Amino acid sequence: MPEKFTGRCECGALTYEFSNAPDFVANCYCKDCQRSSGAVMGSYFSVAAADFRLLSGDPRPYPYVAASGNTLERNFCPDCGSRVFTDKLSGFPGQVFVMLGSLDDPERIKAPIMEIFTRFRISWTRALDVPQFPGRPDGQELSPSEREQTGAGEGCG
Ligand SMILES: [Zn+2]
Ligand SMILES: [Zn+2]
Repeated sequence: MPEKFTGRCECGALTYEFSNAPDFVANCYCKDCQRSSGAVMGSYFSVAAADFRLLSGDPRPYPYVAASGNTLERNFCPDCGSRVFTDKLSGFPGQVFVMLGSLDDPERIKAPIMEIFTRFRISWTRALDVPQFPGRPDGQELSPSEREQTGAGEGCG
């Protein structure tokens, strides 16, 4: 059996593991990823919720409504503030999205297969040579008035 994939928050209070190599890996430039990470984009991958196991820590969930109207919860470490994983995604039931930078060895998983929400890309960041999508790959997005009614943000999910 191959070695498990492991990761943690910056302070080490939150630790996790999973067994199966992720197929979906993406760079996301949405405003939610930019604001919540403080960086130019968020890089994450999906893991089956049944495979994802929290080994230690007590993550604090932050509920969020995506630009698509889907709901999700971003989980961060209450001690160091690291954004570690997203779960309870109404648009991707049974999946957990894990922040790539939290992996102990990010080189063990494949490179991003797509870049999404590129309309928010900061002009000096360069596109990878993979499919580029201005928003969600399927284009699902609420209108501005629907967003206002539902409190949806400008994020992926
Ligand atoms: Zn921490
Ligand atoms: Zn995003």
